[in-house]
Amino acid sequence: MFLQGGATLQFAMVPMNILVGGQRAAYINSGAWGKGAITDGKHYGDIYTAWDGADCQYSRMPGSDEITLEANTRYLHITSNETIGGVRFAEWPEVNVPMIGDMSSDYMSRPIPWERFDLVYGGAQKNLGPAGLAVVFIRKSILPQLNTNMARYLQYAVHCDKDSMFNTPPVFAVYMLGKVLRWMDESGGVDAMRQNAEVKSSILYSAIDNSDGYFRCPVDLACRSHMNVVFRLPTEELEGKFLAEATKVELLNLKGHRSVGGIRASIYNAMPESGVRALANLMSEFQTANPV
Ligand SMILES: *Cc1c(COP(=O)(O)O)cnc(C)c1O
Repeated sequence: MFLQGGATLQFAMVPMNILVGGQRAAYINSGAWGKGAITDGKHYGDIYTAWDGADCQYSRMPGSDEITLEANTRYLHITSNETIGGVRFAEWPEVNVPMIGDMSSDYMSRPIPWERFDLVYGGAQKNLGPAGLAVVFIRKSILPQLNTNMARYLQYAVHCDKDSMFNTPPVFAVYMLGKVLRWMDESGGVDAMRQNAEVKSSILYSAIDNSDGYFRCPVDLACRSHMNVVFRLPTEELEGKFLAEATKVELLNLKGHRSVGGIRASIYNAMPESGVRALANLMSEFQTANPV
C-alpha cells in the first residue's frame, strides 16, 4: 500500500488495526524512533517494552534471547535501523510471534525475511523517493481479522481493497518512487544496494577505527548502521570546526541530530561511493591539521 502520513502515522495505524480483543503488543525501545512508535501506539492498545535500549545508551540492538515476550502478545514491533542513533539489527530477531517492522531508514538496502513479518512499513523519503508516502506491506491473510471500528482512511483493509486509491493518491510521489525502483533494478536490485551500503559504510567505519581514537563511534561493532554513520570528535569545539570545514567542501548536513549531538553521515542508497570517500579524506586531513 501507498499511504500518506509517513511512517509516523503507521505508529498509530498498526495497533489501531491489528490489536483486537485484549491482545497485547511488544515493542523494542531501540532509540528515538522505537520510542516514538511506543508513545503513539500506547493510545491504541496494551503495549509493553520487551527490551529497553535506554539501559545501554542505545549503543546496540538486543539478541533474540534478550527479548522478553509476555502472554497474549500479538506482535513484536522492531525498528530495523535507528536513524538518529546509527544502530541496526544486523541479525533479524527470531521470536515466536509475528513481527512488525519500521524499516524507514534502511528500506530496500537489504533483503527482508518476509516469513517473519505480518507487516512492514517505512516512509519513502530516505531510500525510495520524495516525502509524501509510506510504503506498507501487510500479510493478506490477516486482513479479515483487523479492527474496522474507525474512519475508513485508517483501515488497512480499505486501502488494500482499493489498490491504494481509496482517496486521491499523491501521484507525483508515487511516480518518483517508480523511477527510483527502476533505477534500483537497473543497478542490480536490493542485493547491489546491500553490497554498496556495506562498502560505503565500511569506508567510514575504517576511517573512524584507524584514527587512534580521534574519531569515536558510540555504537557496538556488530550493530553499526550501514545507512547512518554516527561519530564523535575529541571535543564539541572540534566537532563544530569539523562541520564548518565540511560545509566549505560541500559535504553537507553532517550535524548529528540535536538530541544526541556529534556527527552523522546519512549515506542512503542514492549517496555515491565518491561522496563517502570525500568525507573519509576530509576526516583524515582534519585530524592531521587539528591534533590533540
Ligand atoms: C524518518 C523515520 C521515521 C519518520 O518518518 P516520517 O515519514 O517522517 O513520518 C520513522 N521511523 C524511522 C526509523 C525513520 O527513520
